[in-house]
Amino acid sequence: MSEPPGLWSATAPRIDVPVGQTLPSEVEVAIIGGGYTGLAAARAMARGGARVAVLERSTIGAGASNRNGGMVLPGFKADLGRVVRRHGRATARALFEESLEAIRFVARLIAEETIDCDWRRSGHLTLAAKPSHLSRLRSEQQLLAREFGYQTTLLGPTEVRTEIGSHHYAGGLLDPEAGALQPAAFVDGLAVAACRAGALLLEQVEVLAVRGGPGAFRLETSRGAVAARRVVVATNGYHGRLVPWLASRIVPVGSFIIATEPLAPGLRARLIPHNRTLSDTWNLLHYFRFSPDGRMVFGGRAGFTPGAVRRSATLLRRAMVQVFPELSGTTVTYAWGGTLGFTLDQLPHVGEWQGIAYALGYCGHGVAFSTWLGDRLGQVLLGAAPWPALAAIPFPAIPFYRGRPWFLPFAGAYYGLRDRLS
Ligand SMILES: Cc1cc2nc3c(=O)[nH]c(=O)nc-3n(C[C@H](O)[C@H](O)[C@H](O)COP(=O)(O)OP(=O)(O)OC[C@H]3O[C@@H](n4cnc5c(N)ncnc54)[C@H](O)[C@@H]3O)c2cc1C
Repeated sequence: MSEPPGLWSATAPRIDVPVGQTLPSEVEVAIIGGGYTGLAAARAMARGGARVAVLERSTIGAGASNRNGGMVLPGFKADLGRVVRRHGRATARALFEESLEAIRFVARLIAEETIDCDWRRSGHLTLAAKPSHLSRLRSEQQLLAREFGYQTTLLGPTEVRTEIGSHHYAGGLLDPEAGALQPAAFVDGLAVAACRAGALLLEQVEVLAVRGGPGAFRLETSRGAVAARRVVVATNGYHGRLVPWLASRIVPVGSFIIATEPLAPGLRARLIPHNRTLSDTWNLLHYFRFSPDGRMVFGGRAGFTPGAVRRSATLLRRAMVQVFPELSGTTVTYAWGGTLGFTLDQLPHVGEWQGIAYALGYCGHGVAFSTWLGDRLGQVLLGAAPWPALAAIPFPAIPFYRGRPWFLPFAGAYYGLRDRLS
């Protein structure tokens, strides 16, 4: 990973994650990727008695799992109305329920494993970036209530001012179930929990090729070969071209975050009085919240391609000051970026292909889903739980794509134009 991971790693409680040193020649289950998905799968399988090794190319959590916004959100990136139309009501309800179960699971896991990660049910506010977007939020509120029995609160232009000290927005939709956590503290706690369950975590081991098949896989790694009865791919936006079938289904998209110096309590109480997490309705959206130590953490898809942190930080600072002019003199002390894994239908996917198990494609909604799907995938492979409803959704390949996202600049321009015209 060339970019520094940013605020979360710098401010997480220092805990010792006991990583192993020696690559075994043979394991029962090899898990590729040491983020939330891989660690949750490792914990579940080790608790079930399997001999599990997590192989991480960089350091544990160094992918999106210690770089994200720490917003623990119900639902998916995919538009729920489209999910109902495409997959039918019963399936859409099952998928939405899984997204809520994912949040409940994260809360239980944090309590059971006593993970010190500032978890709280903050509630999440989606802000209407234009008056015309408020009617979109109203339709979403009605759909959530009608199809899913899920209650949210719509706030008009005046009411929204009780939630945010900014004139920038025409209203908002408040979701009560969403939460917030410190991403790096959570991934470290999860790693310790996986080790405690008996999993072996290895860093600086890049898997270069997966050969063989179920019962007799052979992984070529940067530190030698490993034989494994089962393989779990938990690489999300960092997959590259390792398994070509997955590479043609998952697109790496950059997302960037800045964090200011800690703000005075009075200023914080004016800007986000109820300390919620927030995002807006642009396609190239912004998301923001306070960190546990009182900084404004402000993120967005300032550029579509991974990398380019410095340029993104300038754009994000400008956007932050537009929303909160009171922050015009505030210093930005951290800037970092990470990579999301996008899918064509904007849903996460879990399943098996030629015996290779996978869970990925969270499209920026992965803190809860990756943790829950990793755990559930582990349970499924142990024979202790059925596949989740998500596993029945076909995983579409992206036309003319094999893992090199040549179309991202066009996608960025297209969504930027849609925002300007909306
Ligand atoms: C800037 C940013 C903000 C985000 N904000 C939010 C948010 O607020 N809320 C939310 O719900 N989601 C958010 N997300 C998404 C969320 O962080 C991810 O969905 C989640 O972390 C995915 O976890 P994971 O374990 O599947 O993947 P990752 O944490 O990305 O881990 C994948 C790992 O695989 C490793 N790897 C890849 N290839 C190999 C290989 N060949 N060999 C060995 N190791 C390999 C990588 O090094 C990496 O560590 C955000 C993401 C980013 C980047």
